[in-house]
Amino acid sequence: MTELAPWLTDAYQQAQAWRRQSRFHHALLVSGINGVGQSEFAQQVAQLLLCEHPDKAPCGTCHSCQVAKADTHPDWLVLDGREGGIRVDAVRQVVAKVANKPQLGFSKVVVIHEAHEMNVNAANAILKALEEPPSSTYFILTTHTSRALMPTILSRCQRLMLPAPDPGIVVGWVNDRVKTDISDLLWFSKTPYQLLRLIDSKQHELLQALPDHLMQWLDGNMRTDELAAKVPKDGIGLWLDGLLALLAAAIHYSATGQKNSQIESVLNALLSRYDVYCLMNFSSSLTGLKRQLDITHLNPTIQIVGELNSW
Ligand SMILES: [Zn+2]
Repeated sequence: MTELAPWLTDAYQQAQAWRRQSRFHHALLVSGINGVGQSEFAQQVAQLLLCEHPDKAPCGTCHSCQVAKADTHPDWLVLDGREGGIRVDAVRQVVAKVANKPQLGFSKVVVIHEAHEMNVNAANAILKALEEPPSSTYFILTTHTSRALMPTILSRCQRLMLPAPDPGIVVGWVNDRVKTDISDLLWFSKTPYQLLRLIDSKQHELLQALPDHLMQWLDGNMRTDELAAKVPKDGIGLWLDGLLALLAAAIHYSATGQKNSQIESVLNALLSRYDVYCLMNFSSSLTGLKRQLDITHLNPTIQIVGELNSW
């Protein structure tokens, strides 16, 4: 079994107790802030449910445990919304499969990563299975935005909300894994798996440089087109998210006096030039621009320059 992150162990022990006492609900919704580890948690719980000895699951030695560990269990079905929408035909295929008896062991598990990525038809197709679950079948749904799920799905699921770890724990845990100090990224995200993904995709440096670049631009040491030229084509969405996070941090600082000291100078630079209403306007305009760039073929660099020129 892959080692479970320390902030997930209490929730895991809860799930394990449900399983060992035969009280596991047939549909579990695992929620929590983005990147806290929903998918990793769901995978561990799936192994728990597939074990042929519920009273000591996961035993680690039965055939189901061994096959699950090798990631080849035929009764472990996955619908994955982590890379985009979950389509209705994929849901129908899975629902048809779980109507049959388990091929190994005694149970079947359907894990739906990022269940909010199901469109209405896909959600309706899974809803039917949640309402009349096939025997010995468990559904584990994960999400970071449960409000995006249909209320009828929510009401069919038992809910397990994962806690967010303390930022100090996040820094140490990420550093242990990828030998990268991310303490200067906590203004952008405090969630460990989101930070790991950023480092894996090598996009963290773009965010690490952003406060300084914005500072240089605000001080007049960098032109707007030079600032926009720092944004790589495949990092536009992330860069805009970073800029939005800095604006939100400045608004928060102004309202509460609380700040992340790593970005204090850029927050002060923003607040000495703009009032909170301006920052809120920039934020809403940037959100609109991000949405537009997602659905149109406008030139992003020109759009970003146009946006920043209006600040
Ligand atoms: Zn087992």
